[in-house]
Amino acid sequence: MILERFLKYVSYDTQSDENSTTTPSTDKQMTFAKVLEQECRELFDSVILDSTGILYCQLDGDSQKDTIGLCAHMDTAAECSGANVHPRVIKEYGGSTIQLNDKISMHPDAYPKLAACIGDDLVVTDGSTLLGGDDKAGIAIILEAIEQLKASNLSHAPICVAFTVDEEIGRGADQFDLTKFPCAYAYTVDGDRIDNVEWENFNAAQAIVHIQGTAIHPGEGKGKLVNASLLAMDFAKCLPNDQTPATTCDRQGFYHLVSMQGAVEHAQLVYLLRDHDKTKFARKKLVLQQICDALNDKYGPRFSVEIKDQYYNMADFMQDKKPVEKAKAALLSLGIEPVSIPVRGGTDGARLTEMGLACPNLGTGTFHHHGVYEFASITKMEKMVEVVKTIVTQ
Ligand SMILES: [Zn+2]
Repeated sequence: MILERFLKYVSYDTQSDENSTTTPSTDKQMTFAKVLEQECRELFDSVILDSTGILYCQLDGDSQKDTIGLCAHMDTAAECSGANVHPRVIKEYGGSTIQLNDKISMHPDAYPKLAACIGDDLVVTDGSTLLGGDDKAGIAIILEAIEQLKASNLSHAPICVAFTVDEEIGRGADQFDLTKFPCAYAYTVDGDRIDNVEWENFNAAQAIVHIQGTAIHPGEGKGKLVNASLLAMDFAKCLPNDQTPATTCDRQGFYHLVSMQGAVEHAQLVYLLRDHDKTKFARKKLVLQQICDALNDKYGPRFSVEIKDQYYNMADFMQDKKPVEKAKAALLSLGIEPVSIPVRGGTDGARLTEMGLACPNLGTGTFHHHGVYEFASITKMEKMVEVVKTIVTQ
């Protein structure tokens, strides 16, 4: 049963740590990887747990069919603890207020994703941790589908499975070895709503703006002191207010000021640049440089910007839409009308697609990831097991 499987997986704390330099970033991810390795030995023809913590499995199938890959990540997000999760099952949720603990509750009027799960069996937290559905629901769905396929004797495609580490800290694809994952195309099972087949995501870069001031005793500062912090504010004001995460949605990109540090002598602004459109993405990078140039003309050479690309929109690298079409056909055949909503973020699949392996993202039936309001719909997870089985058998 998928519920038991899911509850077992969320009992392991697998939080990753961006301050760590090891791979995986935390030992507890390796502990969980070894648990999965044991389970996978019962299910697959070949299982490799490599030293980076990534678990690769293969199941033989009908060699006339394309080999299909399935991925999920083992780690949970840094924003919220994933230790000592106390999941609570709510059978046939009726739509009333869910009291997570004395202080924290959620009601479907305020949470449309919860409203979409009325009638489902749910798993919620006790309000003190995240649940871990992101992405242990993906792992549970994949392994449940494999177990059911093996029990059914249905003919299926050859299947590759990979469970990755450190996805939440953006390193999920860094150590990924495509030679251990020899498939025609793949899916990450790492989204929320189950009708959504995601194949577009942001292009992403980080920009660090450095501002050099001149510190002089303020009593003698007239005409000499240049305050880097004030210049930093000048820089920030040059960017459009209608292109921030708080003022954009859908396919609109943004400049996101994520941190600022300033004294008189030196100041620094860190921005995340995001856009689905690669021309607009390039333009955003150019705009930062142009602002530096214009302010340097005004104040002397005090501004510089360092820009590092982080990931790209998988749509620009996906030559063949076959995996998207196959997933949509599977959803339709199960009575679910598919949608494709552009992701306002990135996925491991974006990196894999860029590496040459087309890898759209499927839903998990878990919602409100990365916080205490996270919940899973077991009913929707069961549906996703059917979706995955249909993809590999149709
Ligand atoms: Zn995830």
